[in-house]
Amino acid sequence: MTTSTLTTQGHVEIRDVTKSYNGVEVLSGVSLTLEPGEVVTILGPSGSGKSTLLRTINHLETVDSGWVAIDGELIGYEHRGGKLYELKERHVLRRRTQVGMVFQNFNLFPHLTALENIVEAPVGLKRLNRADARELALGLLEKVGLADKADAYPRQLSGGQQQRVAIARALALQPKVLLFDEPTSALDPELVGEVLDVIRELAGLGTTLVIVTHEIGFAREVSDRVIFIDHGVVLEQGGPGEVLGDPQHPRTREFLATVL
Ligand code: ADP
Ligand code: MG
Repeated sequence: MTTSTLTTQGHVEIRDVTKSYNGVEVLSGVSLTLEPGEVVTILGPSGSGKSTLLRTINHLETVDSGWVAIDGELIGYEHRGGKLYELKERHVLRRRTQVGMVFQNFNLFPHLTALENIVEAPVGLKRLNRADARELALGLLEKVGLADKADAYPRQLSGGQQQRVAIARALALQPKVLLFDEPTSALDPELVGEVLDVIRELAGLGTTLVIVTHEIGFAREVSDRVIFIDHGVVLEQGGPGEVLGDPQHPRTREFLATVL
């Protein structure tokens, strides 16, 4: 690896990653380099491997071969004596704090308030004291426009509000990389905009953003780069004007015709 000399933050290197489930390959040699602060959207049909790819970036999935590194540090593995070994859970957790993730279904803890949902991670994983974590959480709730919902439970919030809490929760660990897996797919159409607005505000602030989405207009607007994946292979990538405006691969054109 040559990434260890990097001084920048949020550099993601994905090299020759393959992953199979039950003998079926869902990622077939994916290699991508994401620059610090870059905003990358990933498009592709259902089942093409988008979620699996995101999940390998923070080691929610192991890879069968290849590797992922954030700022030159392997995610989930380490080299010893020329071989790769999977890291123990507590080391994985520490490295995973560099990578935040926002899920399609919010995944908030139902028995915790909005504020408590956000406080949990920095206290548990970063040993921040509760008072400081509370202050941080209140600031983040304000940032996502939910200062008045600190004491609400998830069931008392709309889907759009829940997702904004989930984004605030991901931000609480001050990740260098933030992954969004179809963050608006579970929302009623009228709630999509408020969540996209929050994500849009994060673009260009220095955190590397990787966003799986079917919101093509949004992708065109925020992306530095658009990546099209099909059957576990990166078929096409480039600026939004290229991939969305003038797609070269027939599969990209076919896909875009179904979502536009
Ligand atoms: P996408 O997010 O693009 O819809 P996924 O990465 O979720 O695609 O899934 C890619 C393929 O891998 C699909 O065929 C899916 O059924 C399969 N798959 C995903 N996760 C698992 C799993 N945990 N066990 C078995 N198969 C899985
Ligand atoms: Mg998915």
